Amino acid sequence: MVTPDNLGSRAYNLARGSGGFSIMSFPRTLGELRHSPFSEEQLRSRRVKDELRDNLTAKLRQGGPIFPGIVGYDDTVVPQIINAILSRHNFILLGLRGQAKSRILRALTTLLDAQMPYIAGCEIHDNPYAPICRRCRDGVSQLGDQTPIAYLTQEERYVEKLATPDVTIADLIGDIDPIKAARGGHELGSEMTVHYGLLPRANRGIFAINELPDLAGKIQVGLFNIMQEGDVQIKGYPIRLPLDVALVFSANPEDYTARGKIITPLKDRIGSEIRTHYPASIEEGIAITTQEAWTKRDGYKLHIPKYVQEVIERIAFAAREDKKVDKRSGVSQRLPISCMENVISNAERRAIRHNEKLVVPRIGDVYAAMPAITGKLELEYEGEMKGADHVSRELIRTAIAKTYDGYFKGTDMNQVVQWFDLGGEIQLADTAGAVESLQSLRGIQGLMEKLVKLNVGPKESAETQVSAAEFILEGLYAHKRIGRNEERLFSAGEKPPKVAEKPFDREDTPFRGRRSFN
Ligand SMILES: [Zn+2]
Repeated sequence: MVTPDNLGSRAYNLARGSGGFSIMSFPRTLGELRHSPFSEEQLRSRRVKDELRDNLTAKLRQGGPIFPGIVGYDDTVVPQIINAILSRHNFILLGLRGQAKSRILRALTTLLDAQMPYIAGCEIHDNPYAPICRRCRDGVSQLGDQTPIAYLTQEERYVEKLATPDVTIADLIGDIDPIKAARGGHELGSEMTVHYGLLPRANRGIFAINELPDLAGKIQVGLFNIMQEGDVQIKGYPIRLPLDVALVFSANPEDYTARGKIITPLKDRIGSEIRTHYPASIEEGIAITTQEAWTKRDGYKLHIPKYVQEVIERIAFAAREDKKVDKRSGVSQRLPISCMENVISNAERRAIRHNEKLVVPRIGDVYAAMPAITGKLELEYEGEMKGADHVSRELIRTAIAKTYDGYFKGTDMNQVVQWFDLGGEIQLADTAGAVESLQSLRGIQGLMEKLVKLNVGPKESAETQVSAAEFILEGLYAHKRIGRNEERLFSAGEKPPKVAEKPFDREDTPFRGRRSFN
């Protein structure tokens, strides 16, 4: 017995192929369809938003994540999206760049039925029981139960458009195609001569428009009419299409104001407005970057130390706080993702050159990954004056200093600093092989035993030990306790002016005493 309550989950399960129901045995004609789980009672009045709602309800009952792979939104964005779908709303995601907005919108397809029947050959995927286009209405009245049926997968029911000022009504809704008219011998203005735009092609699916305010005002009005009337009209011809589409949008919050580029009536028609955000913690950022970055490379064993992950993530965090970086455009999560990929590549390049079997990124590789950072920063005037390279270097250094403190705050590094103060120097090029670098690093008194804080002992691979020791030196450099030049030669730092400094102060709060003199 089909009740309104189990309609959705039943179709969902059947369409997923449980119960021995495979795509091969799916009904191929309207007659067969009537006697299948896709019955008229089931399908005729089921709108896309009902379908999303039904399948979401089923997923909520099952428990488990609603949108697997969307990290850090479980308590904020996801519940609001769930409410919007349960409310059968069109909705908009408001957020800065690189906050997974497009990704979330695409993930909505997982809430669609696995297979959806439509009248084969229909450009707007007509409902077999209630076709809206002339071609299909004519077809069904001629062929009746012999009308052929085809199916769409979840992904095929998702249409996405990046809004730009040059998008036209014809792109979005459609146009009369004179060539089609001439070929088919139809009158211009006959329904058979319509060239459908993106929106009709998204019929019975999800239509996503990214950066909504970038649409020209006239097009926004058109979109408003569609949401208001529930149907579209093509170029003044009396062709009405009562479409069934779930409309979803994304926008930058700055643009999504009446003062910005959005027209108020359209804004008013969007049911829910949901704010996205950047990862709240370093750990969440690392989880996203680990998931998204391309790290599984052929041929080499890769070990990414935790501190390298933290430094990369903290660059983005530092950039989001830095007043030299434009707050309105934000700093995308793509920054740490691209940076991580470039860091691994630099380490990989070194390993290939030195015929090393293990690839272990170092902090030096983060500096070498600047090309993956600079382009992701929109700079304010002050930043522009200093240049993207300079700003990026400062951000990396800040990220290293904070990460270093997480492991070594309160650790006495005087012996290491003294070695440099007494004239010791070491060059650690990012291209230098692990074995030779380890030799030189071992010469620095007091350094290697500090690696225990990073869980790196003398039995670890040379690659791992070099990376860890270099991290300490970069940390000391970031705190200006030792010096380092562009050629990656570490040496004594510039001495601050002589002041009375209690020797124990430095151990409790390692670097505060010095920092105030910079
Ligand atoms: Zn049709």
